[in-house]
Amino acid sequence: MIETDILIIGAGPTGLFAVFEAGLLRMKCHLIDALPQPGGQCSELYPKKPIYDIPGSPEILAGDLTKNLLKQSEQFQPGFTLGERADTIEKLEDGSFIVRTNKGTEHKAKVIAIAGGLGSFEPRKPPLEGIEKYEDKGVNYFIKNPEIYRDKKVVIAGGGDSALDWSIYLTDIAKEVKLIHRRNEFRGALDSVEKLRELKNEGKIEIITPAEVDALHGAEKLEGITISSKGEEREIVTDHFIPLFGLSPKLGPIANWGLEIENNAIKVNTFDYQTNVPGIYAIGDVNTYPGKLKLILCGFHEATLMCQSAFQHINPGKRNVLKYTTVSGIDGFDGSRK
Ligand code: FAD
Repeated sequence: MIETDILIIGAGPTGLFAVFEAGLLRMKCHLIDALPQPGGQCSELYPKKPIYDIPGSPEILAGDLTKNLLKQSEQFQPGFTLGERADTIEKLEDGSFIVRTNKGTEHKAKVIAIAGGLGSFEPRKPPLEGIEKYEDKGVNYFIKNPEIYRDKKVVIAGGGDSALDWSIYLTDIAKEVKLIHRRNEFRGALDSVEKLRELKNEGKIEIITPAEVDALHGAEKLEGITISSKGEEREIVTDHFIPLFGLSPKLGPIANWGLEIENNAIKVNTFDYQTNVPGIYAIGDVNTYPGKLKLILCGFHEATLMCQSAFQHINPGKRNVLKYTTVSGIDGFDGSRK
């Protein structure tokens, strides 16, 4: 049985930062993640994509952000159960919890912080006949390593941030980039739409709208696609087709833990991000409240307030004076940052 103060379910950016904030208050953390590596969406979905809205980092690759968060938390020596999914929870009489994974590992903790993000990653696939045959043979739903597209012909489909960001990024790497969207307007950030227009004018990308992909072709691997645009069919020779239609959120077993759920997310209050069950918090992409934004920096804020409340839950009546890390908070912890 693994015992800890705060058991964090999900080792994405929110869960990793919670370790640091908990450490400042001298609470130990253990993290469970279904994926074999920490980092959540940042390491699984877009490790090589730059992020521009982390305060103090004008541009950072998602993979580097994960590395930095791990480095920042390592002084507090968190434990990890990786490659296992948290399946069941049980509340004991003393108010603590036991969480079991699908592989039978048991964890006991005074506080549970669910930082499960989107849950398991299920990409929304376009309804194209035989698409499974081309998966990882030209068709990819995520871009993990942009280098595989170097000097290749690539068609991206979608109108959100992911499709726009990757189209822009790949113009520097791929031999040819085409972006297809079924509407004339894109949902992604205005900045990105503007950048795409510039790239189009420079001849670095072809934008085809409104257009839909009708069929995929190729014997052993993808060799081309058929699209229809403005009532006309067109054949496109391509090495890769990357539909970026988002992820369908699946909370998984956590949905059966007796927590209030709304639109696949866990309802919390905005005072301390606690759920309807005292001692169980939900932070990051996994929670919902009026005005919620699914952004990394919002997860950091939620993790910070959650830790302040968890301290009171674990140490009722004990005074916790908020200190700045540069003044005294961290120096007094174990001397490692003097
Ligand atoms: P996640 O990163 O989703 O991590 C949750 C973890 O919980 C996962 O690793 C999952 O395996 C694990 N988990 C879930 N259920 C269980 C379970 N039952 N047992 C064990 N483990 C479980 N945000 C920004 O702020 N800026 C950006 O520029 C930006 N760009 C993005 C680009 C793309 C392509 C995508 C997809 C997202 C982007 N985001 C961006 C959003 C950002 O990635 C998320 O807000 C962030 O990852 C949320 O962090 P999290 O830790 O809450 O959840």
